[in-house]
Amino acid sequence: MTHPAPLPAVQEFLARPSKMLIAGQWRDAADGDRLDAIDPATGKAIGSIPAGRAADADEAVAAARRAFPAWKKVAPYDRGRMLQRVASLIEKHGEELAQLITLENGKPLWEAKKEVGTAMSWTDYYAGWTTKLTGETIPASLPGQFLNYTTREPLGVVVGITPPNYPLTMPLYKAAPALATGNTIVLKPSEDASLVALRLGEIFLEAGLPEGVVNIVTGLGEATGAVLANHDDVDKITFTGSTEVGRALVRASAGNLKKVSLELGGKSPNIVFADADLEAALKGVFMGIFFCQGEICSAGSRLFVEEKIYDEFVAQLAAMARAVKLGHGLDAATKMGPLVSRAQQQRVLDYVRIGEEEKAKALAGGKAPDGELAAGFFVEPTIFAGANNTMRIAREEIFGPVVCAIPFRDLPDAIAKGNDSPYGLAAGVWTRDIRKAHQAAAALEAGTVWVNCYNAFDNASPWGGFKQSGWGREKGPHGLDLFTQIKSVVINYG
Ligand code: NAD
Repeated sequence: MTHPAPLPAVQEFLARPSKMLIAGQWRDAADGDRLDAIDPATGKAIGSIPAGRAADADEAVAAARRAFPAWKKVAPYDRGRMLQRVASLIEKHGEELAQLITLENGKPLWEAKKEVGTAMSWTDYYAGWTTKLTGETIPASLPGQFLNYTTREPLGVVVGITPPNYPLTMPLYKAAPALATGNTIVLKPSEDASLVALRLGEIFLEAGLPEGVVNIVTGLGEATGAVLANHDDVDKITFTGSTEVGRALVRASAGNLKKVSLELGGKSPNIVFADADLEAALKGVFMGIFFCQGEICSAGSRLFVEEKIYDEFVAQLAAMARAVKLGHGLDAATKMGPLVSRAQQQRVLDYVRIGEEEKAKALAGGKAPDGELAAGFFVEPTIFAGANNTMRIAREEIFGPVVCAIPFRDLPDAIAKGNDSPYGLAAGVWTRDIRKAHQAAAALEAGTVWVNCYNAFDNASPWGGFKQSGWGREKGPHGLDLFTQIKSVVINYG
């Protein structure tokens, strides 16, 4: 497949053998092993990454531990300035980073540019917090003269384990608040998209972060992530990924009782009432499931439509899905890219087969395209009609461009079906009736409820899951709680 050539800076980066960042040094894996980095639109290698193992993970943790005491003492203003420099460098190299994201993850360039914008503003947001982390004075009722105050202290060495769907922002979702609050970090990006994280490592060094404050270990989940999760000298794991691996991390954390925060999977309901602005709802539902090829935790993958408009709404959605132009993300005409890996493509196609066996009907998509796209990991945007909430395609996270459309009778029916899921990450509601909007928002079991919008993210707005979608809230001031612990100081001055 032909596509526009990447920028010279991207070509130059890809031509260099990529290395891990440990203690301020660029290193190969201790045993020299490497993994291919694949362009998912072509299935061809564009580079390779070191396949780290236990020895590399150990060294990275040791480096982060050594760097912690001095980093903790850096004046908040100076920490903030360094993070601001990281944000400025992301902006400066934005075009290059966006192209790398597209080449490694597959998403179209226009989506990758949005990701770069988020990465920049997110880092800037937490840079601003360094000088605003205050404690409290406590009105304790102890007898005599006492002063009781609190301070917020960093946890120590943080490990950030991330998925491939946002290869630039995910490592920063972990690193920016961890560093702002005085922790050091070891990042373990997804083996399916590590090059962008390694380029980010160069930016951290260019911004002046001292050696060992940020370390990046690449490699497979079992070989590196699991070692970091079990490590007795790690104080905290911050994880974004599947619920299954989240469970494994909780078990792994038991040894030294390290703190754990988890951003996990979802099967989010997107509920359309007949009284909604249907044009806006169609666009919102479409983007809600097909943004980022459906590889987004918040994907509105269960679409609930009020019975009386179900057939018409779903037919229009299917027409929109059939019109999507798949292609290489660097091609300006591309509306949707490939899935991130062959394994993920196969997983999604397996679910399509399961849906057909369950007698749901694919009104659009339902297969991998042939012709020149066949070598890539594409799946056509797929709309399943005739689905119900007991089917596996409606209960299990697919993490791809597949939506199950399910009819509902009225508000109680929509809420009952929407909440009937082990997940509780997000939910969407489309209605012009303000009472219905508030009643649905109050009743839905989800960390975020969007009304007349979907995937409306803000750095200041808390993000995290109910039920099996996670522990803790990232973003905004809540995100600081994940990386700090409170010390209470009681002084008898009587
Ligand atoms: P995954 O859980 O397979 O992998 C995520 C990361 O964990 C990777 O870096 C992987 O190498 C590592 N890993 C795998 N096994 C491990 C182990 N045993 N110990 C330690 N680390 C291990 O997930 P994925 O397929 O890469 O990403 C998709 C998942 O991420 C979906 O479930 C999606 O919903 C979720 N996700 C959640 C959010 C959120 O904010 N809630 C955001 C994005 C993605």
